[in-house]
Formats: sequence, C-alpha cells, structure tokens
Amino acid sequence: MPNVLADALLHWSRSDPGRVCIRMPSGEQWTYSELARRSAQLAHVLHRRGVQPGDRVAVQVEKCPEIFALNIACARIGAVYVPLNDTYTSQELAGLLDDCHPTVFVVDELLDLQVPQITLHALLANALTELYEFVDVACGDTHPAAMLFTSGTTGRPKGAVLSHGNLVAGARTLSAFWEMTQNDVLLHTLPIFHVHGLYVAAYNTLVRGGSMILLGAFSVDDILRELPKATVLMGVPTHYTRLLADKRFTAELAGHVRLFTSGSAPMLGTTHAHFETRTGQTIVERYGLTETHILTSNPYRGERKAGTVGLPLPGVNLRLAPDSNEIEVTGPTVFAGYWNRPELRGTEFSADGWFKTGDIGRIDADGYVEIVGRSKDLIITGGLNVYPKEVEEILNALPGILESAVVGLPDPDFGEAVTAVVVAEPGSTLDPAEIRRQAREVLAPFKVPKSVHVMESLPRNALGKVEKARLREILSAQ
Ligand code: AMP
Repeated sequence: MPNVLADALLHWSRSDPGRVCIRMPSGEQWTYSELARRSAQLAHVLHRRGVQPGDRVAVQVEKCPEIFALNIACARIGAVYVPLNDTYTSQELAGLLDDCHPTVFVVDELLDLQVPQITLHALLANALTELYEFVDVACGDTHPAAMLFTSGTTGRPKGAVLSHGNLVAGARTLSAFWEMTQNDVLLHTLPIFHVHGLYVAAYNTLVRGGSMILLGAFSVDDILRELPKATVLMGVPTHYTRLLADKRFTAELAGHVRLFTSGSAPMLGTTHAHFETRTGQTIVERYGLTETHILTSNPYRGERKAGTVGLPLPGVNLRLAPDSNEIEVTGPTVFAGYWNRPELRGTEFSADGWFKTGDIGRIDADGYVEIVGRSKDLIITGGLNVYPKEVEEILNALPGILESAVVGLPDPDFGEAVTAVVVAEPGSTLDPAEIRRQAREVLAPFKVPKSVHVMESLPRNALGKVEKARLREILSAQ
C-alpha cells in the first residue's frame, strides 16, 4: 500500500528533483529533492525517538522551511502532525497537550511542561547523520495525518482529525480548480499552524510542483517587495485591507499575480470593490473550515460574485438544513470526527452523517453560497431572528464607518438586544445616535441596534476572524 500523503507531496522530488519548492527572501532555496531528503532524515530521527504510526507529534515552532520537512516526515512514518498556534501560552498548551498526548513535542525552546520535548534545532542536528532514504509506512486514505485544534472563537478547542485522503483530496481538487501549475510562485504569508497556511496554501503548491516564497508574519513592506516575483497570493481579508491602505500597492505591482484569494473570514463588499478599482483584478473568495478543508470557491474562470463564497467544489455535497439554514456537508475532504470526543458525533453531525458547519447560509439561483453568519451568533430578539451580517452590511455602508460587528447581549426585555460596535475610518468621528437614526431608515425596527459602541479596532484572532464571544465579554463588562 502506498503512503497517500507523502506520495502526493514528494511526487516532484522523483519526477523533477532539481525543481525549487521553497525560496526565502534571503536567497536560500530548497529543491524538491532536498525536501525529500530532509524529510527522510527527520523520519529516521522521529522513529528512533519511538514515534509509531498513529502517534501524535505536536509542533509549536516559528515558521521556517524545516517545518515542511518535519510535516512530511510525520506523514512518512504515519504519525499525526499536531501544529499548535505559536501564540499559545504554556497554560493553554498544557490543556491541548493533555488532550492530544503527543509522543514528542517539537519546540523552539524547551518549556516547563510535563511532555517529552525536543527543540527543532536539536532534531535537525540529530538528522544530519541520518540516511537520505526512508521506507515510508503504508498509509491509506483513512489513516490520520493531522490533528488541528479548531481556532473556534468560542468554547474549549476541539481536535479535528484529518486523514491522508482528506488532505490529498483537498489539495488536488482546489489546486485544479485554481489552475495551479509548476510555474506558479506562491507568496506565502500565512501562519502554518492553521489549515489555510499549511494545507491550502502550501500543499496546493507542492502537489503541483510550484514554489513558494516563505515570509514571516504579514508585513506590507515584505509583500510589496516580493509581490513582483509571485503569481499567487492567498490571504485573509485583513491582509487585503492593509495592502489597500498603502498607496504603493498599485495595479502595476499586482500585475504579475494571476490569482488573489481570500478566506478564513468574510470579506467586506467594499474591500472587493476597492481592490478591483485599484488593481483591475478581482479577489477569489472561498470558504472552508478546519474540519472540512475548502468547501466552496468563486470560480477561477467565470463570474466571481462579491459577497458570496462561490460554488461547492467538485466532490463537495452541500445543503442547507431545513428551518435553520445551517450549512451541512459531506465529501472526500470532510474529517471523520474529533479526537477523544465521541459525544460530539451526535451534535456536530446530522442523523444521516452530514457535518454541521455552524454557518448559516443562503444559496442564490446560480448556486453561489453566501455565509450569513455563525449559527451561534444568530441574535434572537423579542422572538425574532436577526442575522448579524445583514446589520453589519448596512452599518459598513454608512459614511465614516470602516467596519462593524453586531452581537446579541442579554436583555431583560427582549431576551437579547442587538448591539453594534463600529470602527471609524481614519479621520472620521462617529456619533452613535446618528448611526442609529440612519440605520432606522433602512432596517426594520427590531434589527436596529439598541446601542452602538465606537471602538478603535475589533478583537480578532490570528486568522483575522472577529472574536464575537470576546466582544460580548467586553461589552457585558462595560
Ligand atoms: P477555521 O476552522 O478556523 O478555518 O474557521 C472556519 C470558519 O471560518 C467557518 O465556519 C466560517 O465561519 C469562517 N469562514 C471561513 N471562510 C469564510 C469566508 N470566506 N466568509 C465568511 N466566513 C468564512
């Protein structure tokens, strides 16, 4: 039996070993054969440290090319790669490690935690004397390859287990849909502890024999410098608003790039429009979850509808649950379940086995999907449902408002009160009473925010998602 994931990722090391896969701004380059060799050496080291098929290898290190070799090494020995957000504190890590129980935890610096740890530096040093070849452990489609704690903005993190088959199906389908080839150069600026940076951005490139320019934390200056060398940029909405806020980001600079994509959080219609005016190009917005890989995308060829996340990808079955309109899915990229949480099978999947995304959707006459909000963010006020997105869109279009977030706060009278937070455009001053007055002109009374709060910025997680639970906490404490 083959090793499904390693075979897909190392295909180009056999067919074109000298091809470059990773380029660093410093000029350092890795070829596909180097990636294969280094991953073999690391697989030997992990094996010597007792890592067996199915064991977890947790990783919390800064972004660097060696991570890809380590990631592939895990696939080659059939271990489960567990990337951890590099901003997690020791206290947060303790809970996650207790849950996933890794055989080894790879870190930049040893931490005061009761788990077997090794620094990446030491691991690489040990690898230097190992053989360049490794006989991959046979792993079929259902063999677990990765476990990612959902970056969910509420509740205790859950470990979503993704299989070799899930990851390969995701990379193959999406890279075909976006027409990725070996000529593509991806400007990689996303974190690689998350599905978006690792399994979407990097794997899409590697399965097609392309290369990536590896950048650290998002920096406008770095992007502007490297963009003329790239053909693809995959980002989150905040990346695009930051680029657009800089006058140096011009049509000419963007001209070499054939594909700009956005996801992980909703992109405002104004950002889409502003981007098109500035560059003459449109951003391909797509939608997915840690648990499912990418589910929908606007087409590479064909109409890209701003405000929608496009069409279900080939192989994805997507439906709206009756009454709630919650998006439910099945398909080759959808995970089998959460680690150590059998009780969630009954709540997170429908009776007939479809995964419930927690997102409320709409589907237009052409089949394009729109995300209306998270089901748990739905506001029920006086018995009436209010979708935050609808109110946010109205507020965002008012003069002087850069962006907004709408949440429900406990209210003795209404159950929940529609509450808005607004952020001013640079140079504007906002008046809550005036905002409510303008909102009343276009919204039914029950949707008009009962109170409007002005903040300097919205609380966001590492992927740019507005943390509504945190926002509710902040507002409740006021
Ligand atoms: P994560 O598991 O961190 O990837 O988060 C998945 C969630 O991100 C989804 O359930 C959506 O709520 C949200 N999301 C991802 N892409 C989009 C998008 N293009 N528009 C709106 N929400 C998105």
